[in-house]
Amino acid sequence: MRIVVDRDLCQGHGVCESEAPGVFEVGKDHQVVVLDTAPSEDRRSELEAAVRFCPTHALSLVDD
Ligand code: SF4
Repeated sequence: MRIVVDRDLCQGHGVCESEAPGVFEVGKDHQVVVLDTAPSEDRRSELEAAVRFCPTHALSLVDD
């Protein structure tokens, strides 16, 4: 499982960080940083919530 971010869409709302702390972090530049690019399967539900609730639909999960 991999996280893909469309940086043109991210506006730094930080919803992803709230849903999956430790995986996402929003910096002062209002861009998301993915701290854990290949998270373990047991975090899938948190990550799916982050994808679903991102207001700009900047996130997606890819299964390798
Ligand atoms: S919730 Fe979406 S728009 Fe907000 S910081 Fe995360 S990826 Fe960016």
